[in-house]
Amino acid sequence: MEGRRHFEAIIVGGGIAGASLAYFLAERGMTDVMLFEREEQPGYHASGRSAATLVELDPIPSLRDLKVQSAGFLRNPPPGFTEYQLLDRAGILIVFQEPIWGAVHMMLPLLEAQGIAVEPLSPRQVADRIPVLEQQYFDGAVFLPDDGHIDVHELLWSYLRHANRRGVRRRCGVEVTGVRVESGRCRGVLTNVGEFDARWVINAAGAWVGKIAAMAGAAPIRFTPYRRTVVTFGAPDDLDVRGWPLVANEARGLYFKPESSGLLASPMDEDPADPCDAQPSDLVVAETIERVKQLAPPLVPACGPLRPTGCWWSGRIQRSKDSFGSRVRAVAASRPAPPLVRSQRTCCWKAAPRASMPRCWRRRAP
Ligand SMILES: Cc1cc2nc3c(=O)[nH]c(=O)nc-3n(C[C@H](O)[C@H](O)[C@H](O)COP(=O)(O)OP(=O)(O)OC[C@H]3O[C@@H](n4cnc5c(N)ncnc54)[C@H](O)[C@@H]3O)c2cc1C
Repeated sequence: MEGRRHFEAIIVGGGIAGASLAYFLAERGMTDVMLFEREEQPGYHASGRSAATLVELDPIPSLRDLKVQSAGFLRNPPPGFTEYQLLDRAGILIVFQEPIWGAVHMMLPLLEAQGIAVEPLSPRQVADRIPVLEQQYFDGAVFLPDDGHIDVHELLWSYLRHANRRGVRRRCGVEVTGVRVESGRCRGVLTNVGEFDARWVINAAGAWVGKIAAMAGAAPIRFTPYRRTVVTFGAPDDLDVRGWPLVANEARGLYFKPESSGLLASPMDEDPADPCDAQPSDLVVAETIERVKQLAPPLVPACGPLRPTGCWWSGRIQRSKDSFGSRVRAVAASRPAPPLVRSQRTCCWKAAPRASMPRCWRRRAP
């Protein structure tokens, strides 16, 4: 099998984009497909390190449409796709301040018409659900009860497993180093293990899409990868956070949600950088904790250095130059490495991408 050098389609990249494409091509009968992943395992970069949440609320209508359609798959995957639940409907709670809150409130009927379950909440109702939030930073909130945490590991591997069952091949540790173009069409790829022909070459290289596109001489659409950081830390002993939704304050740049037995937080940072195995900055980690301290002060004592229960991931977000404001597009992430890293208020260690972790490590504590 490894001796074959010609395929109908070659997919470059084994993150969630490449894996899902392999699956849907195979489901539609295109099975003469090879997926090349440069790392030793799929999902090593952005897909293994995302905050793994489904949030259908999006100000961009076309993206909202895509999210609504994806949500249907996550809530009700095809029979036999997985024996596990892909979406934990823990909900998403987004707080807003005026004047944005007024605008969001007016949008609610539109969202409902699109099939998005959405409930407006008063500050008092928010406080009943998430008592740690400082009320001066919001005038209202929306709760999306049918959204929540995605089991990215299960999703990624189910895509790959079913694609493989139908005949799609996958090779990890193979880097695409060039794209062969003839008469204006991609005809194959060069790799560290030789050359391969294909009728179609599909670029699903995450933060590296711009590099692959340049290899093919494609129109120079500028893509900029951005790093995003996630910090995890222990929850206070007297707070049971396990049933909490993801809580976001976009204006103040913070979201947090339950993760294992603690919490995960992100300052929604977007620092432009070349695509690489992204590493978090101590400064951003410290900034995250400062924001938690400002917006949800009771959570902070648990971040102290005596509670080294946390780890972080950082990744790269990628969007095209003319893309919308602060939406996540694609990412790469930090290398799994064992040493402890101490940074300001939190004691962290680097963690392997979650999509590569055995299921039993990733399950939330009962
Ligand atoms: C901290 C963080 C939080 C996020 N939170 C969310 C969230 O809550 N919800 C959400 O929907 N999204 C979230 N995202 C975004 C989401 O993770 C990404 O949009 C998604 O994972 C991108 O998948 P991808 O397959 O395009 O990229 P990747 O997962 O990065 O996959 C691309 C793959 O291509 C491979 N590759 C690159 N170049 C080559 C080459 N030359 N040859 C062979 N292989 C190559 C790479 O090794 C990589 O494995 C988050 C991202 C980050 C960083």
